[in-house]
Amino acid sequence: MYNCLTPSADMLQSRGEAQEALHKRAAEAAARHFGRRVFIRAVVEVSNFCRENCAYCGMRRENRSLARFRAHHEQLAELLVHHCPASVTDVNIQAGEDPLAVREVVIPLIQTLRRETRLGVSVCLGSMDTRLYSELKAAGASIYIIKFEIADPSLYASMQSPGTQEERLEHIRHLAANGWQVSSGFITGLPGETDEQMLANFTLANELPLVGCSVSPFIPGDETPLINAPMADINRTLNCMAALRLMRPDWVIPAVSALNLAEPGAGYRRGLRTGANLVTINLTPAEFRDDYLLYKRDRFIMTEDRILSAVAAEGLSPSTQSLAEFYQAGTSLNGSNASKATAHAVA
Ligand code: SF4
Repeated sequence: MYNCLTPSADMLQSRGEAQEALHKRAAEAAARHFGRRVFIRAVVEVSNFCRENCAYCGMRRENRSLARFRAHHEQLAELLVHHCPASVTDVNIQAGEDPLAVREVVIPLIQTLRRETRLGVSVCLGSMDTRLYSELKAAGASIYIIKFEIADPSLYASMQSPGTQEERLEHIRHLAANGWQVSSGFITGLPGETDEQMLANFTLANELPLVGCSVSPFIPGDETPLINAPMADINRTLNCMAALRLMRPDWVIPAVSALNLAEPGAGYRRGLRTGANLVTINLTPAEFRDDYLLYKRDRFIMTEDRILSAVAAEGLSPSTQSLAEFYQAGTSLNGSNASKATAHAVA
């Protein structure tokens, strides 16, 4: 287990000058480990069918008003092989928990990408059976994004998060033990969440065999039971991101698009200032985007222009090395190895 800093309740509550200093320290830790570079990946959302029923998500199975779709792999392959922005080094293929889409869309798409591009491939497909994990890996994916969502077991159960928490953690450990680079994530600001429950997310993340982790602000989703709950506090969310960076200078930490829902116009760039080093351009075909209802129908789509402008405005530059290559090489972008960087971060 790696532990440069143990996040505290005071850290989550910091504001004003103390908050600025916290975020600056986190950005410096990221720069020491990775340089002033960020990974740029594209996401394609291939299916909004989901067999799970998370209370915070509009794609939950009990949302009967949602028009469900599965994209065709040929359409996505054409898009990614011939029209992928030059800055993109990796693709994340994402869906609700939909094994049929994994077989019919995702696996053929990965095979095409492997054959025709050098793009690194991540998948974010939920808890699948172990045979499907093997098929995805054989097709050419190397990074699995599977969020543990909530560390507190009772909150996990009350939010109807996927399966049982024990099962979810078993999936994370199974994937890591079978050669996947595993990135996870948790939600901040869920209704009724205490500081103790929030801090448990850091402890659990640090115990798991991960190479990256995200922090997502709770957004009261359209067509969910939590539609009237208050949105997560952006400052607390950004403090969590900074604390996560200081706890794990070696992890890849994304700036998630929901930051711009939590604070329109500014949240995303503020996320980059906390040491986030992965940004995502949304390439989902326009006809599907509004039905990929993670939060709101009125989505804030991260286009290439928006992403590259935010990256440049924060004095960062796109990595030319893909995330998949970075993990494979096991070295940081500035050429130092993890143990050297750890020593710097602790100093
Ligand atoms: S969060 Fe994921 S697993 Fe849960 S309902 Fe939404 S798409 Fe399904």
